[in-house]
Amino acid sequence: MIQCNHEVLAELPIEEIMPHLCSGHQAIAGYVVNTSTRTLKVFKYKGCKCARCRKVANIARVERELSSGRLCLKLYRKLPNGHLDFFNKDHIRPRSRGGSNHLSNLQPMCFECNKIKGAKYDNTNHI
Ligand SMILES: [Zn+2]
Repeated sequence: MIQCNHEVLAELPIEEIMPHLCSGHQAIAGYVVNTSTRTLKVFKYKGCKCARCRKVANIARVERELSSGRLCLKLYRKLPNGHLDFFNKDHIRPRSRGGSNHLSNLQPMCFECNKIKGAKYDNTNHI
């Protein structure tokens, strides 16, 4: 499980957090989190739609990392049955192929697509 290292402190509709993104440390549902991370910048400027499957994130969660105590804001697509797809940033040109960390090389992507894309690059590494 991806979730077991985190404590979920709050869950909000994504529309409620979008106006707060990229404005430094902000109180979200009463918890102060850094809204200016590189990942959140990708969602702010490139949208919340997976670049591969076009699914759209619909919720945000404030989570506490149990190991460090650090608070973070994470985006997910929540299905009616409660299943969660984690959304992250993806490097368009992979880091392993010299891709940069610049916003121009980043796009939003769901966890499943990121996994599939990663595997594809692994398979074509030697061509
Ligand atoms: Zn996807």
